[in-house]
Parts: sequence; C-alpha cells; structure tokens
Amino acid sequence: MTTSKRAAAIIVAAGRGLRAGAGAPKQYRSLGGRSVLSRAMAPFCNHEGIVAVHQATEGLAYRAPVDGGATRQASVRAGLEALAAGPERPDVVLIHDAARAFVTPAVISRAIDAAQASGAAIPVVPVADTIKLVGESGAVEATPSRAHLRIAQTPQAFAFEAILDAHRRAAQDGRDDFTDDSALAEWAGLTVATFEGDVANMKLTTPEDFAREEARLGAALGDIRTGTGYDVHAFGDGDHLMLCGVRVPFNRGFLAHSDGDVGLHAIVDAILGALADGDIGSHFPPSDPKWKGAASDQFLVYAVDLVKQRGGRIAHLEVTMICEAPKIGPLRESMRNRIAEITGLPLSRIAVKATTSERLGFTGRQEGIAATASATIRLPWDDNALLSGGSK
Ligand code: MG
Repeated sequence: MTTSKRAAAIIVAAGRGLRAGAGAPKQYRSLGGRSVLSRAMAPFCNHEGIVAVHQATEGLAYRAPVDGGATRQASVRAGLEALAAGPERPDVVLIHDAARAFVTPAVISRAIDAAQASGAAIPVVPVADTIKLVGESGAVEATPSRAHLRIAQTPQAFAFEAILDAHRRAAQDGRDDFTDDSALAEWAGLTVATFEGDVANMKLTTPEDFAREEARLGAALGDIRTGTGYDVHAFGDGDHLMLCGVRVPFNRGFLAHSDGDVGLHAIVDAILGALADGDIGSHFPPSDPKWKGAASDQFLVYAVDLVKQRGGRIAHLEVTMICEAPKIGPLRESMRNRIAEITGLPLSRIAVKATTSERLGFTGRQEGIAATASATIRLPWDDNALLSGGSK
C-alpha cells in the first residue's frame, strides 16, 4: 500500500539547462501555458502517498524550497538534509528531476511501492535503438545486447536513511560526479531494483524537445469554444471614461456600480460564456458593495484565471465599441496594449474595433456606450484529467 509509510519527494530544479538553448533555465520555462517545474511538481503535491515535497532550487519561494548546490548531487543532498532536519523523517524518499514534466501518479505509486519492497529502485524503459560503444577514435568498439539495456528515469526511490547515508559518504569521499542517485547508491553498495517507467516521462533537454511537446500539448487542447458578451453603460456626470482598461478624458462619466468599463465587461462575459460558467453578474453581483467603484481589470484577470484553472488557453479576444464619441480609432492601440497587459496574451490575439450606430438609438443619441465581444478559448477534451495544482 502506498500510504502505509511516510514518503517524501525532492524535486531537483537548480540546473541551468544549458542544452535547452538561450533563455531562462528550462525548468522555469512555460510549456503549454504552465512552467515545466509546476508540471513536474503537481503530481507529487497531489499524490496521497507523499507527505512532503522539497524542491532543491535557487531561492524560489515555492513549497518548502531548499537552496540547490553546485552540482545535481549537492542539490539532492541539500534536500535530504532538509528532510533529515525536519520534525519527522520520512521512511521513503523519491528524487525527481524537474525537467521530467510528464510524470504520472501511477509512476509515483510504483516508485513508493518499489522503494518499500526493495529499499532502492528506479523506473526504467526498454531501449528501442541499438546502442553502440564508441571509442575515442570514433570507431565502434562494442554493441551491447539490447535485451539487458534500459533507460533510467526519475523519480528514483530509496529508503530514506540508506540514501541519506550514501550521500553523506559520497560527500565525505569527495565524490561529486554522480549523474543520478542510482549511480551513487550503486557506489555505496546498495542493490538497486528496477520498476516499470513510462516512455511519456521523458526529460526535456533540447529546444526540439520543447517545440515537440508544445505542439503535442497544443493539439490536446482540441475543445475549441467561442463565447460572446454584450454590455451597456449610460453616461452620467464625470470627466472621464474607463474603456478597455484605458482612462479616457471625456465630458461625461459612466453611471455604474463598478468603473463601468463596458469593453472589459463584454470581454469578461464572452470568456465566461465560452466556459459555460454563468455571467459577470453571477460572479460579481452588483448587490455586493465590494465591487462599488471597482476597477474592471480585476474581473478580466479573474476570468483569465478560470480558463487557466481548467487547463485551457485563450486563443483570441475581440471587442467592438459602439458609440458616436469618444472616437475609438486613436485609442485602439493603447486599448489593445492594456488588454494584453491584463490578460498576458500577445497583441496578435487581441482585436479592438469600433462603430457608430449612425446616430440611431441610445448610442446614436449619445446617452451611453455599448460593447460586444467574443472570446475563443481552447480547453482540454477531458477537463478532469488535466486539472492540476492545488495543495494537500
Ligand atoms: Mg457592465
């Protein structure tokens, strides 16, 4: 049973990821709208068999961080020492590389079970290609039998006291060159068992790995939905209007409970419509004094967050302002920029348009402004399978 003993996890995230090309270390890069590190950590944080998650990293404040070391091995040891100094030492520890962002709960369960059964165990997958041993000259020296070759993955799982002792001895002996904890455990004389890994639990290493996985995740967001929104606010006394998050000097103001930003309200309603999750009034009741005079950008941040919580992405937002005045054309780019700032979307996915009603109706009589909007969002087909995050 995976819950009979205390298991902890160390996520190693202090690497520089030099092979992944320019930019931030790969574990902090975004993949399908979420950081690699958060993808790697979530299955451990959500696993019922795991009681503590330590992340050996460089000062990022996120769920019991531990300062990483100069090498991967030193980072792991820092994590082990942090657990050793904790109030209750775990029985079993799982050590996982943050660059393996697609670890599943099933692999984690197998790791806990294997460590409890054998004291030291690593996930492996068969080798599909023939492997050659190549000498310094570049000539093939040997062709090892594929039947005995395996690719080692993480999480590697160990009885806590045994791996802590092995790491301490390696440090005392000045050995800092082990590339995984299995190699260190083998050096320390432990017998390392194997269990079934998962080919999807691959390590993100090169820019090509990122491009391929980004494409795969994008294709998985196949539940494409469109929502529309409509909003009106009447003019009252005042000297400015809030329109699409931009303060526009004007000889009137909006009569509204919040700041009356019809553009942002229409966009929020479009997003909520695409999610089939009520409307702006049900999420932010005008009867609630909390929203009196509220800046509407927070409503949009909230709606964007709802999409993220569902594991989705916003593909496109469009808003059309219907008014005789103020003239929207000169304000278009600042409105697009402001919406981009609030939502985190690129400008190429935000359209702001304007029209008049040819002096007809309430907008034509300049009694107020109307706005329509549409939102296109992409969700995973299986919402529940991709739900993640949360805490224990
Ligand atoms: Mg409104």
